[in-house]
Amino acid sequence: MDNTFGINIIPENDEERIAALNRYKILDTPPEGAFDNVARLATQIFKVPISLISLVDAENVYFKANIGMSNTRVTSRGVSLCSLAVLKPEVTVFENAFTEPCLLTNPNVAGQFGLKFYAGAPITTHDGFLIGTLCIIDKSPREFDSHQREILQSLAEIVMDEIELRLSAIEEIEKQQAYIEEAAATYEELLTSNEELELSQQQVSALNEELAATNQEIANANKELLVTNNELTETQERLLLLNTQLADSQELKNIAIEQAKLGIWYIDAVTRQFMPSCRLKEFFGYNTDEVMPYDATVEQIRDDYRNKVVNEVNAAIKQGKTYDLEYPIIQFRTQQLRWVRATGKLNPALNGRDSYFSGTVMDITEQKKDDQRKNDFIGMVSHELKTPLTSLSAYIQMLLGKAQHNKDSFTVGALEKARRQVQKMTTMINGFLNVSRLESGKIHIDRQHFNMKDLVKDAEDEAIATNMTHHIVFKPVEPTFVKADHNKIGHVINNFISNAVKYSPVGSTINVACVTVNGSAQVSVTDQGIGIKPDDMARLFERYYRVENNSTQSISGFGIGLYLCAEIIERHNGSIWVESEWGIGSTFYFSIPLAAN
Ligand code: ADP
Repeated sequence: MDNTFGINIIPENDEERIAALNRYKILDTPPEGAFDNVARLATQIFKVPISLISLVDAENVYFKANIGMSNTRVTSRGVSLCSLAVLKPEVTVFENAFTEPCLLTNPNVAGQFGLKFYAGAPITTHDGFLIGTLCIIDKSPREFDSHQREILQSLAEIVMDEIELRLSAIEEIEKQQAYIEEAAATYEELLTSNEELELSQQQVSALNEELAATNQEIANANKELLVTNNELTETQERLLLLNTQLADSQELKNIAIEQAKLGIWYIDAVTRQFMPSCRLKEFFGYNTDEVMPYDATVEQIRDDYRNKVVNEVNAAIKQGKTYDLEYPIIQFRTQQLRWVRATGKLNPALNGRDSYFSGTVMDITEQKKDDQRKNDFIGMVSHELKTPLTSLSAYIQMLLGKAQHNKDSFTVGALEKARRQVQKMTTMINGFLNVSRLESGKIHIDRQHFNMKDLVKDAEDEAIATNMTHHIVFKPVEPTFVKADHNKIGHVINNFISNAVKYSPVGSTINVACVTVNGSAQVSVTDQGIGIKPDDMARLFERYYRVENNSTQSISGFGIGLYLCAEIIERHNGSIWVESEWGIGSTFYFSIPLAAN
């Protein structure tokens, strides 16, 4: 700030004074009618060209009203005479500026403006701060008496009242503004709350819908539960009924076991604990209150059957197979021989119960004795028949020789037929003799080392000599060595071939093959005959079993051929089986182990 007055123009309390001025929020604001009116009134009262309402700030002096000094709104504090007028509470008067030493360098006085007269009454706040002036200015010197000073002072007080009023109005407006802003904010908050409320309401209604759906689901689930409950009740009732039926059938089974005089036994598959019934103990010669150990029981099986029984039982336990065996046992203490038929099977674990092995044993000693008597009889009859048949065969042979010598073709033909019939009969009787020998354990396996190729060749020669009706094809055989009963294995092959001839139409083809499969010699005979139904296939190898139907009715036989074959193959540790299709044809197989090198 450039001070043109050469004296101090800043009062001691200037800082507080400026703070008081700022309190009125009037500094550097546009002109207002009320202030202009007071200034204009001053020019009229004092008949001066210029009147100002000034506000003295730290650096500048602002004119709130300006009458007569063009549009000047602000001027420097160091130039304005009002800066001097705020230094004392009385009216400051310069009647002739030219005579005032402090104004001589002031541009308003010395300059073109040509200020000569100045009178300024301070505008004083209620707490005593001189914040500005109401001043009048003239460009010619004039006198200014005390009365005029009072008037000017009064006008300055009016200005101060106006400033106070203005501040109250501003504060009121600000208050209102604050209220309005607060109300707007509250309204805004309300709007937000409303929106939130609406959202919550939507969520509540969505939840309500979900709740309703859940309720419906629960109701449905309840219905299903009810149905399940009913079903459970029904199942329970059925179970009760089944339980009763089970108890009844258990009772019936017990009666049947009792009636059939069956011994029963039970082995726990896990603990291997053996539990025989009282009757079973009787069969083996034990008292009912005695312990019958499993191992001792096995020892009571006759030597020649023991291994077979143990193997079958083990296979049944391991593979869950059912077994059905007939074998002789030696009774404990009495050492008597008894025959039993034993069946057994593995019952799988169920409902927390361990798996167990159980079965029945029937005393078939009497039946075996009957069979034996029958066998003995068949053996005896066959033997007796064989002697006359042998002589008959010899006589026929002799007569045949003679007739051939005499070239008696009719007799040769007739004797040839007789010879074939005797041959057939001999085969049949031999069959019976073999069965009887087999049953009484008299059949003997005479193992020799031989080549299956030669044996098949023998069968081929025999077939060529005896078969006039079928086309028998022998597939080439590789050298195949076995250690077996030459005659009996030959008998099995011939039996297969003669059955193929018997059970297939005249003129059809029969294929015979011998190959090596998995370390065994496997022989097969395939025909295009009547075939066998699955049910019959399983029983073909039983003694005296014959298929009874229209196709087999007219074919003679006793059902012992395949039985003998099976027994022979079994004694060679081999396998025998059939594959067949009813009406298409059959293939009979057997296999025996190859000879060790
Ligand atoms: P059989 O003296 O009755 O021929 P087998 O023991 O040789 O006695 O045969 C038992 C049964 O097997 C026969 O009665 C027959 O029904 C059936 N069978 C055997 N071989 C054949 C075959 N090649 N084709 C059809 N059925 C056969």
